[in-house]
Amino acid sequence: MSAEEKNTRHAARMVRKKAVIDAAIEQANQEKGLLLILTGNGKGKSSSAFGMMARALGYGMKVGVAQFIKSRKDTGEEGFFSRQPNVEWHVLGEGFTWDTQDRERDISTAQAGWKIAQQMLSDPEISLVILDEITYTMKYGYLDTAQILADIAARPPMQHVVITGRGAPQALIDAADTVSEIMDVKHAWRAGIKAQPGIDL
Ligand code: ATP
Ligand code: MG
Repeated sequence: MSAEEKNTRHAARMVRKKAVIDAAIEQANQEKGLLLILTGNGKGKSSSAFGMMARALGYGMKVGVAQFIKSRKDTGEEGFFSRQPNVEWHVLGEGFTWDTQDRERDISTAQAGWKIAQQMLSDPEISLVILDEITYTMKYGYLDTAQILADIAARPPMQHVVITGRGAPQALIDAADTVSEIMDVKHAWRAGIKAQPGIDL
């Protein structure tokens, strides 16, 4: 095939493609606050949520973050985002279950955390709420999934919610608008490399 033929074919294919894409764009004409779930065993759940946070802040939106489970307050994301205007940042965890080793305390920590999440979920000024690692509180039964779902459903209609964490329960997936499961293909940690500032925390 000559270069000229290739170019003509390419142009014709792009005309057809544009018609399909334009029709799809025309179809997607609704607006609403979205519920997004980032789950799976691969790396990139929380960092994806913080990527959306940067986007939202770029539009001057207010963003609320609730970090369940984790207790570290010295992460790169906290260092950067909590100093920005329009950010409400809560570290609500006291560490992983294998660190705390105290189920009763984990439950009351999670429940106190949910009270703060509820406040953000009822504030229409907050355009994006990130519930980081909250799936573990559901998986271990510290928080009631039905209660979480009810509070999320009752949020302001244009508010977006992003949930991260492994093992998202099916009921949460069913309620969500967008769900990504990040697959673990390879992780440096298994080659003996410790968590790197700027990449892992
Ligand atoms: P990130 O915050 O880097 O986006 P994540 O939110 O997807 O990661 P978490 O389960 O919250 O994953 O784990 C947080 C920490 O554990 C990060 O330091 C991350 O690099 C590391 N991590 C994530 N997935 C894996 C894995 N499959 N094996 C080992 N370590 C992992
Ligand atoms: Mg995470």
